[in-house]
Amino acid sequence: MDLYEHQARELFEEHGIVVPRAEVTDSAKEAREIARRLGGRVVVKAQVKTGGRGKAGGVKLAADPAAAELTARQILGMDIKGHTVRTVMLAQPVDIASEYYVSYVLDRAAGQFLAIASAEGGMDIEEVAATRPEAVARIPIDPATGVTSAKAGEIALAAKLPPQTVDVLVRLWDVLIREDALLVEVNPLVRTAQGRILALDGKVTLDDNASFRQARWGAEATEHDDPLEAVAAERGLNYVKLDGEVGIIGNGAGLVMSTLDVVAGCGARPANFLDIGGGASAQIMADGLSVILSDPDVKSVFVNVFGGITACDAVADGIVQALDTVTLTKPLVVRLDGNNAVRGRTILDAHAHPLLRQSSTMDDAARTAAELAHAAS
Ligand code: GDP
Ligand code: MN
Repeated sequence: MDLYEHQARELFEEHGIVVPRAEVTDSAKEAREIARRLGGRVVVKAQVKTGGRGKAGGVKLAADPAAAELTARQILGMDIKGHTVRTVMLAQPVDIASEYYVSYVLDRAAGQFLAIASAEGGMDIEEVAATRPEAVARIPIDPATGVTSAKAGEIALAAKLPPQTVDVLVRLWDVLIREDALLVEVNPLVRTAQGRILALDGKVTLDDNASFRQARWGAEATEHDDPLEAVAAERGLNYVKLDGEVGIIGNGAGLVMSTLDVVAGCGARPANFLDIGGGASAQIMADGLSVILSDPDVKSVFVNVFGGITACDAVADGIVQALDTVTLTKPLVVRLDGNNAVRGRTILDAHAHPLLRQSSTMDDAARTAAELAHAAS
């Protein structure tokens, strides 16, 4: 899960990294009050979980509280790369002498972390990285030893950062480890004319696997960008939205993953997938089908179940009962195999539905679902 800038700022502050004074609001009127409290002149910053806000007009300087209100009114509601701005952060402006870039990121392939740092931070860091990669230092970090002062000194030296940044580099590592983050990024980390070092912008991505011990983000951790993902999560289903046309329901992560591959192998693309897990009850099947069918991208649905602990006749009963509550609007291809498969197929045959078909093998079912999806689009 990504955090908002103001949340990252809060974490940085808790770990002793200096940040500008700032407050968040969703109201332009209140922005004026906040600006007054912060001394009049403020930077108004869109709070959206995407970068490049500055270039999109989402970061603006306001000279006084009245201007802060106007600017906040402009920025609130703005669309930045598909993200609607719902809140703004107002921050005390900082006199910037230099802008640096620093981040720690998990390097999965190498099984370690990577420090990425540059003395040429700011809004053009992507371009710097693309055109002059030598200006961006990349230093591997052994997760067992982490970033000690010595390691931070090495990073600063490699990136040509001033020695005052060493302390920040150590504290930023603390943020990564203590907050269970997969990524922490400060861009820009600035040096002021007076030689102070401040984090002016922050991005933190938390490791969702650790959400159980990061209770403070609880409400937000269950926030979903896709409305159907939210509905599915509410019903305790593992649903993931993709961008193809075949809806997929399976039992167990392994089977669901291979179903995606087989469908792709048949020249179709999965629109989503839903893992109904071990207990494929009628209720779960009904919930799952209704979620999958309400995705407008879905042109056909492939239910792929290998009966194990949950026998196929129970799954078939679930499908039949689901069809009583959910109106089938798209072709449904079902493949039942494993425990009690024959009984399951008999139950579905007895419940003849014009849009329901059965296949006895996964390959055949995938091919049928792919063909039906193509025929419908
Ligand atoms: P981003 O574009 O989403 O990365 O947003 P940032 O928070 O990084 O802001 C973009 C740019 O605005 C920064 O690189 C700075 O150059 C500038 N900026 C942000 N805050 C301040 C500030 O307090 N004072 C000044 N002078 N510039 C700022
Ligand atoms: Mn930035």
